[in-house]
Amino acid sequence: METEYKIVVLGGGPAGGATALGLKKLGYQMTVIAEPRPFKAVEGISERVVEGLRNAGFTQALANLPQPSPRNASWNGATNSANTEMLINRSELDSGILQDLQAAGVEVITGRAAKVSSSDSGHEIEIKDSACGGISADFLVEARGRSAPAAGLDRLRGSETVSLLQYWQGEPCKPQSAAESFEDGWAWMAAWSDGTRYLQVTFDVATADLPDKAQLIDHCNNILSGLSSAQPFLETAEATGVIHARTSTPVLCKEAIGANWIRVGDAAMAVDPLSGNGIFQALSSALQAPAVINTLLKQPAKAELAKQFYQQRVNHLFFRFARIGRDFYASEERYWDNPFWATRRNWPDVEPLHQDTDPDSLQVVRMPVVSEGLIEEQDVVITNDQPLGIWHLNGIAMAPVVKALQSRGDGESVAACLEPLGLSPELNIGMERWLVQNNWI
Ligand code: FAD
Repeated sequence: METEYKIVVLGGGPAGGATALGLKKLGYQMTVIAEPRPFKAVEGISERVVEGLRNAGFTQALANLPQPSPRNASWNGATNSANTEMLINRSELDSGILQDLQAAGVEVITGRAAKVSSSDSGHEIEIKDSACGGISADFLVEARGRSAPAAGLDRLRGSETVSLLQYWQGEPCKPQSAAESFEDGWAWMAAWSDGTRYLQVTFDVATADLPDKAQLIDHCNNILSGLSSAQPFLETAEATGVIHARTSTPVLCKEAIGANWIRVGDAAMAVDPLSGNGIFQALSSALQAPAVINTLLKQPAKAELAKQFYQQRVNHLFFRFARIGRDFYASEERYWDNPFWATRRNWPDVEPLHQDTDPDSLQVVRMPVVSEGLIEEQDVVITNDQPLGIWHLNGIAMAPVVKALQSRGDGESVAACLEPLGLSPELNIGMERWLVQNNWI
């Protein structure tokens, strides 16, 4: 049965879509206001993203996925052709998401969410380019990606970055992509089966000394013509003369949740496209959001716990992807003094991506977790590499495992100390192997 709360999601990309589907399953009355993306884009995704989209409940969005295609990477003077990625047309993915939402019974309003007036009691949203001029909501999910307004919010920003996307047209071809670093930035190129080439060049806004708009295409083409991995994309193709600028600065919202609103996906934290993980991270926050919202609405006494749970995860994800990007920038050593590379290899901090797990660092603490569509406190295990805690591993609660290990007698085997947990002999052996592999014992 649907609850009386009216939840409105602004933006129907992967994050807004996944949040709406999750909330619908929890019994909420859902409306998504979605304006189609104003430009064509192709993006590269991995099998992990496909898995994330499937787990979120999308089927139409995944209906026309291409096979993985070859990806050539040329970085720090070395070339690697061993990887693949799936090249997806974002307009197709996004329209599949809206079809999935409608099939699940979510109301989809095509139009532009314009003015949003918010108070403690709810939100009034003005909608442009739609028969429905406005709508009210008890709870608002902000999922308009990087274009979500953020005035007044405390945000952490990396170096200001812009990606200039150009389209060239050639004969239909086998899809492929390539990435290459150069002195002032890096380029990503993709050829789509219909012959469209997507040529994306990423620069530092402050130091790239970019020319006026009229000369931007020539500037990008001069750079691309000097990149060896760009040649297969330029040969036998013609520039269409269309260029589109996408902001790609990493941004973290330090306040991504309030009493009656939440920001998900890029609206909460957007990562550097270099990591190729944008859709994955957008889904990660969106998959947690339904339980967090459910708790805010149904169990207000646990609101602070739910907010803490969500913000910690957003922060953790952001720093993880920022550090992945940092280490990748640091692996380009040829342009060491160029400000593009120097600023990015030193941001956001010097913390290693992973901490070595030390068995002495294992602790059992009370932390918020997702349980049956709500946030509640449970005993979890934290390590120096997993500060947010591990509650279950393949369905086995880990706090009792660590408590058993910590009370292990002198000379007692691991198998014997785990015996009181009642695991089957196979699970006991598997658990001991996992504990050794992960340096927990
Ligand atoms: P979005 O996908 O941006 O969805 C937001 C939606 O809201 C859009 O449909 C938009 O049209 C709509 N919207 C905006 N304003 C309004 C409004 N006022 N009213 C109604 N609707 C509105 N990720 C990858 O995984 N692989 C890549 O190769 C990749 N390449 C990238 C390259 C660049 C240059 C950039 C900038 C990003 C790239 N990303 C990539 C990141 C990826 O695009 C995003 O992380 C991901 O799409 C975020 O999902 P989202 O749902 O949060 O936002």
